[in-house]
Amino acid sequence: MRKKKIAAVAAVCAAVAVLAAVIIADSLSSRTHRIDFSAMNTVVSLDIEGFRSQSAVTRISETVSRLDLVMLSRTAHGSEIYKLNSSDKPVVLSEQLTEYLATLKQLEKDSGGAFCISLGALSDLWDLGNGGYLPSQSEIDSALETKDGFSVNGNTASVADGAAVDFGSVGKGIACDSAKKILADAGCKRAIVAVGGSVLLWSKGEESFKIGIRNPLGSANEYAAVLETGDCCVSTSGNYERVFTAQDGKRYHHIFDPSTGYPARSGLQSVTVICESGLMSDALSTACFVLGYEKSLPLLEKYGASAVFITDGNEFITSPSFDGKLTVTDSRFSGGAVK
Ligand code: ADP
Ligand code: MG
Repeated sequence: MRKKKIAAVAAVCAAVAVLAAVIIADSLSSRTHRIDFSAMNTVVSLDIEGFRSQSAVTRISETVSRLDLVMLSRTAHGSEIYKLNSSDKPVVLSEQLTEYLATLKQLEKDSGGAFCISLGALSDLWDLGNGGYLPSQSEIDSALETKDGFSVNGNTASVADGAAVDFGSVGKGIACDSAKKILADAGCKRAIVAVGGSVLLWSKGEESFKIGIRNPLGSANEYAAVLETGDCCVSTSGNYERVFTAQDGKRYHHIFDPSTGYPARSGLQSVTVICESGLMSDALSTACFVLGYEKSLPLLEKYGASAVFITDGNEFITSPSFDGKLTVTDSRFSGGAVK
């Protein structure tokens, strides 16, 4: 009996020693941890500095992958969105999804319908994820009819046959928000979490960050300007993602104007929205891309956000609320301070 007790105490001591060694190794290790991985149909890059940054990297990567599989993915059979889209009866939503949908339905109203969370059938029709398809007007009209086939009442939602809820425009921002919650408890010093075109800039103090704004005339890793700002979420929507050239010789992209069913043409090549919330920066960047510069301004004001627009004429324009610093680095663009 006594022997058993001693063995148990020794096992506990060994476990504590291992745990202590892991914690010490984490806190004494290089203190900056970086990884890239795939989730949400994009590349996620984590760059985290400070005490226990290794465990923050692990927790954030697990959380982002789980968020997609458990809640937001349109294709993973276990996700809440998948179940909602494939059910022919009303579905009771989780508290978190209920909250997201209430926020997004309000944005649909505030944006005059430029943002639409139930545009999944239209996105599927254009099939930009698989090389693209130029639909006929009657196909577009039928797909557009389905956007009204989604309704949500408190925590219960229904999706009519043929309609589909699609978090493609906001999932990456939501992932940034989940990373932010983890960082708040983790004891880290500074982090950059990039989920495709949505980026969380986070620090314990009042640090400043510099990030590039993608060059619409270049490839994926080229930037046209450098944005300097404090802690925030930054999301960019642009007409260079998921593009295809159809038989008619025209280029079509993946952000749709729900009033026409065609890719939005509002005089912009991209919009970068800066605000506290990842969900809102991501949703607003899509909405503002559809609305164009002038109509975006009241929406940005209402949500306490600012934005950097790149027009079709290669001009950078910032919203009046913009208080960061913007340095244009490609001389083909005007506006900002050209270097
Ligand atoms: P990205 O996915 O490149 O970050 P966005 O955040 O702007 O770009 O989201 C674009 C995606 O959102 C599209 O691929 C489509 O799934 C969906 N979408 C397209 N148009 C709209 C719209 N008007 N409102 C809401 N979602 C949209
Ligand atoms: Mg978006």
